[in-house]
Amino acid sequence: MRIACSGLIALFALCFSSAHAQDVGPQWSLAIHGGAGVIERSSLTPEQDAAYRAALQGALDAGSAVLESGGSALDAVQAAVQLMEDDPLFNAGRGAVFTAAGRNELDAAVMNGSDLTAGSVAGLTTTRHPVAAARAVMERSPHVMLIGSGADAFAASVGLEQVDPGFFFTERRWQGLVKALTEAGQPIPERPAGAPLPGAQAEVAPPLNEKKFGTVGAVALDNQGRLAAATSTGGMTAKRWGRVGDVPIIGAGTYASNADGCAVSATGDGEYFIRATVARDICARIAGGAATQAAGQAEIADADRLGGKGGVIVMGLDGRPAFAMSTSGMYRGAVSSTDPARVAIYADEP
Ligand code: ASP
Repeated sequence: MRIACSGLIALFALCFSSAHAQDVGPQWSLAIHGGAGVIERSSLTPEQDAAYRAALQGALDAGSAVLESGGSALDAVQAAVQLMEDDPLFNAGRGAVFTAAGRNELDAAVMNGSDLTAGSVAGLTTTRHPVAAARAVMERSPHVMLIGSGADAFAASVGLEQVDPGFFFTERRWQGLVKALTEAGQPIPERPAGAPLPGAQAEVAPPLNEKKFGTVGAVALDNQGRLAAATSTGGMTAKRWGRVGDVPIIGAGTYASNADGCAVSATGDGEYFIRATVARDICARIAGGAATQAAGQAEIADADRLGGKGGVIVMGLDGRPAFAMSTSGMYRGAVSSTDPARVAIYADEP
């Protein structure tokens, strides 16, 4: 039972319904995404399809190991996201897209639904796990959001692993930058110091002719009924001028609130997701009585009307995850104490 029931008759109905909710819902639950976009069956080879599914499964395994052993939703979403940050398939941590200047600038956020604490970082260049930095901001600083070199310095000061910026380099993302800048008629920057020689990296990822976001995120409910959300990204290819998207903006790309009964992580056109305050709005819809799926779908439709494509994962207090998208695909997965792990890529998969 997720609340302490007294013998008071006045509480009977509440206790009964809580016990009932637990009987029918999972004790813990986790959902993840690895970005949304134009992802069609024809755009992935069977090997690439399998590689993405294996990566998603690995992230579910990491998060569910935490939840299964009684760990917190916060630890679970961090574990799942960190694994995807290390995976070059995703646009977060290693494998992040490049800025027009040829750098990787990383954004991330976490939020704890049980007490509304939150932390975020933007424009990191040397911290290996941006989601860990976001959590450190939340737990070990008096602030909510840190940016740029100051954020990296803070992360280093609390002992988080620092890497050479070349650590984040992938050939595929570099070629994506070259293509984007060439199409835009903009200058191509020098290949970054520390990057492997051209052709040195084996590529399992799809070719670059599809429009796809690739941000990663996770939402979870733990066996104490706590909700949490985390999101991490390299942002948009060829971004300039210190551009920051929705991911580290609490309420846009990331939000969690036990009071509202929701945890949300988004992926998509950040500029529109910020303007639509996607994650907070979904929680407000749920607080107002909407089901998680309906709330996610309505909000994604609103962002779409503004001009922004993408997707969201939503976790409710019942432990039933919801996925909504306005794109042809979203790398995603879910697992709970009652349901085996499942992963999906294309919009028409269950
Ligand atoms: N939402 C991210 C951003 O705008 C991009 C993504 O989801 O891939 O930075």
